[in-house]
Amino acid sequence: MTAEWLTPRSPLTGETAGTVPVTPPEKVARVVEKSRAAFAEWGALSHAERKPYLRAFAKHVLRSMDRISDVLVFETGKHRNDAHVELIGTLTALDFFTRKAGELLQPKKAARWPFVVTRGWTEYHPLGVAGIISPWNYPFYLPVMSAIQALSAGCTVVIKPSEVTPLSGQLIKDIADEAGLPANVVQVIHGGGSTGAALVEADTDIISFTGSTDAGKRVANAAAPMLKPVVLELSSSDAQIVLEDANIKDAAKAAVTFGCFNAGQMCVGVERVYVVDEVYDEFMAEARKAIDKLTVATGDRSDIGPMIWPKQVDTIEHHVRDAVTNGAHILSGGNRVETEHGVYFEPTLMENVNHSMVLMRDETFGPVVPVMRVADEAEAVELANDTAYGLHGSVWTKNRARGAAVAARMETGTVAVNDHVINFVVPSIKFGGIGESGLNGQLGEEGIKAFTVHRSITVASFQPTTKLMRAWLPRTVRPGYWIGLARTLFSWRR
Ligand code: NAD
Repeated sequence: MTAEWLTPRSPLTGETAGTVPVTPPEKVARVVEKSRAAFAEWGALSHAERKPYLRAFAKHVLRSMDRISDVLVFETGKHRNDAHVELIGTLTALDFFTRKAGELLQPKKAARWPFVVTRGWTEYHPLGVAGIISPWNYPFYLPVMSAIQALSAGCTVVIKPSEVTPLSGQLIKDIADEAGLPANVVQVIHGGGSTGAALVEADTDIISFTGSTDAGKRVANAAAPMLKPVVLELSSSDAQIVLEDANIKDAAKAAVTFGCFNAGQMCVGVERVYVVDEVYDEFMAEARKAIDKLTVATGDRSDIGPMIWPKQVDTIEHHVRDAVTNGAHILSGGNRVETEHGVYFEPTLMENVNHSMVLMRDETFGPVVPVMRVADEAEAVELANDTAYGLHGSVWTKNRARGAAVAARMETGTVAVNDHVINFVVPSIKFGGIGESGLNGQLGEEGIKAFTVHRSITVASFQPTTKLMRAWLPRTVRPGYWIGLARTLFSWRR
């Protein structure tokens, strides 16, 4: 990146594709002003009036799948099939929020208590201008997923894609224009951290940030003095628990698939596996078979693509080397592979790992599957929870009730039983991390409501509080009246 231009480069072929102008931090406020002007009309539309625009946008994404895949393959080096998977996730979120926004944001009635004559409800009004900041690993899905929630809630959006993948972000704006969305309802700005920081400082009403925990904390710190709400989707170290009654073949295949999918550059990927002693050997044999089938190569037959951001390989290598130094065994892979243009990491299966190793505590974000033998379910849960992160996890058992009970003890925002990444692409249910993995979260009713002002309204058919206060102000009630009233109202507590 130079001061004024980004030069997108394929991590697969090394080719470049022109330049993208950086939005200097001092120009970001002006972009946000335009967004605010557009909000005056967009935010005033009813859900029914906004729906045709959003549907047109979704249709244009569907029609543009080849074009978007070309850009994703170019910019991230991911396999075309992986790009298609990213687009299916995108279309699922577009479809859900376009259809359901009106229903999800219906006013919510309050119970008539304690004043039975007073009706109350909460309405959900659009917050205003949403700033959306996104990373490079899913550079189309992640910003569109945030944007569709904001747009369908009635906000306008300014998207700041990762400086590593600006073309994917730019496509969102191009497709919004082609679909006929009103001017400035969707805007895209480009640049690195300083452009993102300017978006947080500008007159935005909410920031939806997806990226590393370090940058997320900087965003939260910058937003705090303005009391600006933030949605933070951050780093993770997701655990897979395999119990003795699991389908071992399925669990082992999932460990390898979701540990290595997108070359491990996936926030909900498998980063750590805990397998109960009884089935450990069987699991490892299956995992070995699965990982040995994966190939690292450039071109269309490759399973493991390049590092989208080449420096990531240093972190992966450091985690693997540190583990080996402390006694871990590599069963398969374990090396970086450098080609003329790109940097890869071999699909790697490891055992004899423990929690003194950085590999089991921090985010690796590469195709590495470390497996730890545990005595039982209790030890598996304890170790899975032994991390500062809390994004996602999975439990594998044929007993679904047991799986749900174990899931409830995992200290993460989401858990899957007998699957791993499914929560990331089910738009009807909340997705989001706790602890160092995030704040607030996205998707589901909670996700769209994050982009709204929750305005509570009460309508009294007579004035209970005035009447009560009138009794109090002139001191006409005898001492003990209020205590008597409280005892009557809360009689069930005695
Ligand atoms: P990153 O934090 O380096 O960058 C993310 C975005 O933030 C980029 O657009 C960047 O320009 C911007 N940014 C950086 N500093 C900023 C600042 N001070 N103010 C505002 N914006 C700033 O992350 P990355 O390397 O692009 O992405 C990888 C990380 O993203 C991994 O840690 C991964 O776990 C995380 N991630 C999380 C989720 C999730 O849902 N929890 C999803 C995908 C990726």
